Amino acid sequence: MMRKGIIAANWKMNGTHTEVTQFVNALATFAAETPGTKPVEVVFAPPAIYLDLAQANLAQQSSNLATPFSLAAQDASQHDNGAYTGEISMAMLRDMNCQHVILGHSERRQYFAETNAVIYEKITAAFNHGITPILCIGEQDQDNQQGKTTDVLTEQLALAIEKLSENQKQQIIIAYEPVWAIGTGRTPSIDDIEKIHQKIRSIFTQNNDTIARDLRILYGGSVNPDNASAIFKCPNVDGALVGGASLKIDSFKQIIKAY
Ligand code: PEP
Repeated sequence: MMRKGIIAANWKMNGTHTEVTQFVNALATFAAETPGTKPVEVVFAPPAIYLDLAQANLAQQSSNLATPFSLAAQDASQHDNGAYTGEISMAMLRDMNCQHVILGHSERRQYFAETNAVIYEKITAAFNHGITPILCIGEQDQDNQQGKTTDVLTEQLALAIEKLSENQKQQIIIAYEPVWAIGTGRTPSIDDIEKIHQKIRSIFTQNNDTIARDLRILYGGSVNPDNASAIFKCPNVDGALVGGASLKIDSFKQIIKAY
């Protein structure tokens, strides 16, 4: 069975009410799959305040939906409820029909001091509420230059490898995002992208063929309409997490088409 690709748009702290509406309407009716292309779904992660708006627009377009389209939050709390001012829980995401949550993005790790332990708590909370985590992992430039990429990725995956059930391991989505490639215009070579994705698949699945068959691993870091199709030719790349290039509808459409 072929893994269904995912092209995810991470808008970070960008966008307006109008832009979110335009994006959902343009993408929901966009037929990504043409005969001969691989199956793909689109995931949109707007700022949390716009998830409800995106969901309402998506619901309105449901009869025109040309490509599977769902929503993701960019983060959520590990706590279920309580005195955590400013936070949003996984139960609230579920309540708003949000299906995915991005966890462990390098910007959360860097600016909000998220540790692997906290990120694992968030993964657990997501699964407890029926939300699929998109777990971001990736090495810093220095780690890469010192040949420590595999060690860093292994450490970032360790708790999930140790504690998730087989079923959860089949469902979780991993996004490999080298930190030095995010928003910089730099990417690893296509060869390196494939090698690292293959490595992640073998580390995470620990030779379990069922998990290896189903696990979706996205590449993220300066994906654009020019490099997308070469990246998507890698057999172990199951789509992309796209930041900057997802802010322009046309660029994002070209990336989806490249899959
Ligand atoms: C990201 O922030 O997840 C990302 C991949 O950003 P960009 O595409 O802009 O590098």
